[in-house]
Amino acid sequence: MIPLHSHPAGRHFLQIPGPTNVPDRILRAIDNVTIDHRGPEFGVLGKSVLGGLKKVFKTQADVVIYPSSGTGAWEAALVNTLSPGDLVLMVETGHFATLWKKLALKLGLQVEFLEGDWRHGIDPAQIEARLAADKAHQIKAVCGVHNETATGVTSNIAALRKAMDSSGHPALLMVDTISSLGSMDYRHDEWGVDVTVAGSQKGLMLPPGLSFNAISAKALAATETAALPRSYWDWKEMLAINPSGYFPYTPATNMLYGLHEALEMLFAEGLDNVFARHDRFGEATRRAVRAWGLEILCQNPSEYSSALTAVVMPDGHSADAFRKAVLQHFNMSLGQGLSKLADKVFRIGHLGDMNDLTLCGTLAGVEMGLEVAGVPHKKGGVQAAMDYLTQSSMAALARAA
Ligand SMILES: *Cc1c(COP(=O)(O)O)cnc(C)c1O
Repeated sequence: MIPLHSHPAGRHFLQIPGPTNVPDRILRAIDNVTIDHRGPEFGVLGKSVLGGLKKVFKTQADVVIYPSSGTGAWEAALVNTLSPGDLVLMVETGHFATLWKKLALKLGLQVEFLEGDWRHGIDPAQIEARLAADKAHQIKAVCGVHNETATGVTSNIAALRKAMDSSGHPALLMVDTISSLGSMDYRHDEWGVDVTVAGSQKGLMLPPGLSFNAISAKALAATETAALPRSYWDWKEMLAINPSGYFPYTPATNMLYGLHEALEMLFAEGLDNVFARHDRFGEATRRAVRAWGLEILCQNPSEYSSALTAVVMPDGHSADAFRKAVLQHFNMSLGQGLSKLADKVFRIGHLGDMNDLTLCGTLAGVEMGLEVAGVPHKKGGVQAAMDYLTQSSMAALARAA
């Protein structure tokens, strides 16, 4: 066994915004014998996880599962629906939006990338104006990230859909929910999304290794004319065999055991309760950050993420040195600043398998870390979070009584 953490006692706090802490129940489910993926037992498992996923995406339409990281599902969304040279409209919300753009360019698509400051979400009015100006309908798809994991900023997908509708433009809508599905409310059908992209290792509490597409009828129809080459990612072969619970190539059987368990856990808690729990963690974390006298990266309160909070480091202080101190002293991993934000922010992941005390431990680690790293701050952030968690918990119990 490779020694994974320098402090063996107690649990390592994995408070990056994905991969998230994998519950023991899920680890135990994965630790079962691998079965024949063409045998009778497998079909039952396949049907069950595909059906369960539809409830999480809130869709009646098709969902496919790939044995890949989220990046694979990004690629699948594009190659199944578009042709070489097609124009795609994307928005620079942060690092992940930028990576999706790079992938699109490598596939031979043209991308119009609307500049952003990495502190705001997608502006629906800007998309509406751009689509309205595209009288020739050259733009084939609008692609956006629901929860930009690099910044802790969410975009309002329902408003984006409305804006697209009022422009009367036929472009497809594709949304990355890799770090929001299973932690924040998301509605593939109601919001009229054509392709939703997701991954296993964030809100779904699984290890990395599975990715997903939810596919509207309009997106499926687009495959008929989409000329980008595809084989491994081809929806058609998946969808031809999925109804029987099987896959065209060897699926990640043990990860599907884990997915089955994760879906049971999410449904037992109730999706609305899962989302409310994450909302509370987001609010408690922001209260702590404000009490420390630090700045939240996300500038618009209506765009705060319930899955993570990115915190701006005071000028002249290194976010990476701070994170290193937190790991050395308190055995906790925090998210780093990515590309443009490298060393300037740290990210507190508060999604997945967490409760009030996990969050308090996380915030205590941050507050102690600020002290040991010599970062100027006020004390009392954890107290502010505890006060909020206590009051909101009492209020919830009183409402239920
Ligand atoms: C994590 C993440 C990705 C990348 O997924 P991989 O599993 O690393 O390929 C893409 N988009 C968002 C929003 C993410 O949070």
